Amino acid sequence: MNDSTGEGSTPFLRSNEPRPPDGRLETIIHRDANAALVVSLQGMIRHANPSAERLFGRAASELVGRAVGIPLHGADTPEIDVRRPDGELAVAELFSLETVWSGETVFLISLRDITARARAEEALRESEERYALAARAANDGLFDWDVSINRVYYSPRWKTMLGYDEDEIGDSPEEWFSRVHAEDLDRVRAAVAAHIDGLTSHFENEYRIRHKTGAWRWVLCRGLAVRDPLGRATRMAGSQSDVTHRKLAEQQLNHRAFYDPLTNLPNRALFIDRLRHAMRRAQRRKDYQFAVLFLDIDRFKTVNDSLGHMAGDRLLVMAARRLELSLRPGDSVARLGGDEFTVLLEDIRDESDATRVADRIQRELVTPFDINGHEIVTSVSIGIARSSTGYENPEDILRDADTAMYRAKAAGRAKYAIFDTAMHERAVALLTMEADLRRAIERTELTVYYQPIVSLDSGRISGVEALVRWNHPQRGLVRPNDFIPLAEETGLIVPIGRFVLAEACRHVGAWREEFDFRDNFALHVNLSGRQFSQADLVGQIRSTLDETGFQPGDLRLEITESVVMERPENARAMLLQLRELGVRLSIDDFGTGYSSLAYLQRFPIDTLKIDRSFVSGIGTKGENSEIARTIIDIGHNLGMVVVAEGVETLEQLAQMRAMRCESAQGYLFSKPVDVDATRALLRHGPTW
Ligand code: C2E
Ligand code: MG
Ligand code: MG
Repeated sequence: MNDSTGEGSTPFLRSNEPRPPDGRLETIIHRDANAALVVSLQGMIRHANPSAERLFGRAASELVGRAVGIPLHGADTPEIDVRRPDGELAVAELFSLETVWSGETVFLISLRDITARARAEEALRESEERYALAARAANDGLFDWDVSINRVYYSPRWKTMLGYDEDEIGDSPEEWFSRVHAEDLDRVRAAVAAHIDGLTSHFENEYRIRHKTGAWRWVLCRGLAVRDPLGRATRMAGSQSDVTHRKLAEQQLNHRAFYDPLTNLPNRALFIDRLRHAMRRAQRRKDYQFAVLFLDIDRFKTVNDSLGHMAGDRLLVMAARRLELSLRPGDSVARLGGDEFTVLLEDIRDESDATRVADRIQRELVTPFDINGHEIVTSVSIGIARSSTGYENPEDILRDADTAMYRAKAAGRAKYAIFDTAMHERAVALLTMEADLRRAIERTELTVYYQPIVSLDSGRISGVEALVRWNHPQRGLVRPNDFIPLAEETGLIVPIGRFVLAEACRHVGAWREEFDFRDNFALHVNLSGRQFSQADLVGQIRSTLDETGFQPGDLRLEITESVVMERPENARAMLLQLRELGVRLSIDDFGTGYSSLAYLQRFPIDTLKIDRSFVSGIGTKGENSEIARTIIDIGHNLGMVVVAEGVETLEQLAQMRAMRCESAQGYLFSKPVDVDATRALLRHGPTW
C-alpha cells in the first residue's frame, strides 16, 4: 500500500530539512506499514511517515514540531490509545529504539495499528459473556471449533438437543454437518465459510438438523470466529438453539397468508404473485406465453342452499382435488374465494393448449360428486385470458378472465370462453348499465306495461301480463331482455320485482273497481330465478298483497320451466308455500327446457304457457303444430289451463283454438302497452 505513495509526495521529503545521511533508513521508514515517528530526546516529533499520518489522522506537516505525548521509555510493547481528530479511537502497539538521525540522537518509534484486533477481542469478550448468559438462559447447546486442528467441542446440551448421550457424538465437524438437512447444507456451509473468511461479522443461520429419532429439528446457530493477528480464524465458538416450535408457527402463519384453509390450494395473494412472475418471464422471453383460466362452479349456490354449507365445503374440496389432477405439474391452481378457482397455465404454445385444459377440466368435473350420500352433478364455466393480450398488472388478467367466464356462463353453463377486447367493452358497458339501473330504481324510470291475455272461448280479455319497461333517459325504452339478466346478476331484480308487483296490483285493483269484470280476471307477473330463490319471497308477496288489497286468487306468478327444474325439490316447497297464500302459479316458456313430467305432476301448478317458438312456426312449417298439440295435451292431462304465447296470425289463433287451448296472448291482439292504453283496451273492449 505504501508503495503506491510516490516518495516525492511525502511531507517528510518535501520538508526543508537537510536530507539525512542514511538514505536507506529514510526509505525503509517511509515504506514501513507501521507508523513511524522520529522523535527528539526532548520528545519533539521530527519526522512522520505516511502510515503515521493514517494512524494519527493528521498530515506529517501537522505532526512535525509537536510534542509526541507518549511514553518513550519503559515497557517494551505497551498498547496505547490514539485519539484521532475525528474522535475515533485507535489502538496501537508501540516499539521504540534509540538511533541516530541526521547526526542527532533520536528515538525511532514504531506504532502498529491493532485497532481491528483489539475491537474483535473486545467483541469476543463481550459476546462470550453474552453467549454464556444466553446459553444458560435459553438452554442452548454450545460448540467451540478449533479450526487449526479441525476439532469441535460440542457441549452436552448440544448433544442432548439432538437426542444423543455425551459419548455418542465425537468431536469432528462432520458430527454436525452430516446431520444438517440436505436442502440446507449448502447454505449453512457457505455462511460458515463467509464468516471464517472474514466476510461477515458473525455467523448466524437457521436450518434443519436430524434428531436421533430421525425427525428434523429447526435450530438457530450462531457463532463468532476468533482471529490471529493476521485476521485468520483460529476458532469459531457459538451456540445452537432449538427453534422448531417458532419455525412451525411461522410456517403455519405463512401458510395461512398464502393458502386457502379449506382446500389447501394457494389463495388469491399467492396466485397474483405467481402471475406476476409469469408476466415478468413473458416480458423477458418473446416465446413465453401463459394463460389464466377463471373457473366458477355452476349452481354451487344451489348445493350450498339446499344441502347446507358443510356439503358446499365438501364439494369445494373435492372439486379442488379434481382440478389439481387435471393439470400438468408446472401449472398452478388457486381458490380465489367462494366457488371461484383460477388456473395458471405456464409456457403454452398457443390458444389450443389452454382450451384443451379447459376441456379436460370440464370433463373431470361432470362426473357426479358423492356428498353425504347425495349425488351432486355440477359443471364449471371457464373464462380464459392469454398473456399475448399484453397486460400491465396481474389484476387486469384476472378481471378479463372473469369477464370471459361470465360470457361462458351466459352462453349456457359448462362452457368456456376466451377473452377478447369486444368482451372488455361489453363489460364496461355492463358496469355503466348497472350504475344506470341502480339510479333507474331510485328515480322510478321503470314502468309497467301490460299485454292482454284473451280467452279463446269468449274472445274477451281474461287477464293481463305485467311486463316491465325501462324508460332510459338516453336510450329510450329498454326491453327487459336487455336488462333483466344484469338485474339478476347484481341482485337488482329484487327491488325491481317488488316494484312491478306493487304497481301491477295497484293498477289492476283500480281497473277492477272501474270495470265490472264478469269472469275471473288474472294478473300475470313474472318471477325470475333469483327472485324465486329468495328465502322471504312469500313474506314479501304477502305484504305487497296486503298493502295493495289485491286478491291473492287473482294473481298468477309466472316462473320459467328451467328455474323450476333446476332445483325441483326446493321449487316444490316454494310453490306450495305460495299456493298456501292463495296465489296461483304458471309455468312460463314451457317446452324450451328440460322438463320432467313426473315432477310437474307433483307441482301445484294451474297454468302452462306454451313458448312462443312453438306457436310462431305454425303456418309456415308444419312440424311445430304437432309439438304444440302435444304440449297442450300434456297440460290438459295434468289438469292445467294452457295459454299460447306469441300468437301473431289468425291462422295461429285458429290452430290454437282447434287444439282446445284456453287462452292466447300475442301481437295479434295487442303488443304490451302502457297503463293508459291498457285501460282504454279494457274500457272499449277488444277490437278483434
Ligand atoms: P315472457 O314472460 O315470456 O313475456 C312474453 C314476452 O313475449 C314479452 O316480451 C312480450 O312482449 C313478448 N311477446 C308477446 N306477444 C308476442 C308476439 O306475438 N310476438 C313476439 N315476437 N313477442 C311477443 P318482453 O316484454 O320483452 O319481456 C321479455 C321477458 O322478460 C319476459 O318473457 C319475461 O321473462 C321477462 N320479464 C318481463 N317483465 C318482467 C318482470 O317484471 N320481472 C321479471 N322477472 N321478468 C320480466
Ligand atoms: Mg311471462
Ligand atoms: Mg314467456
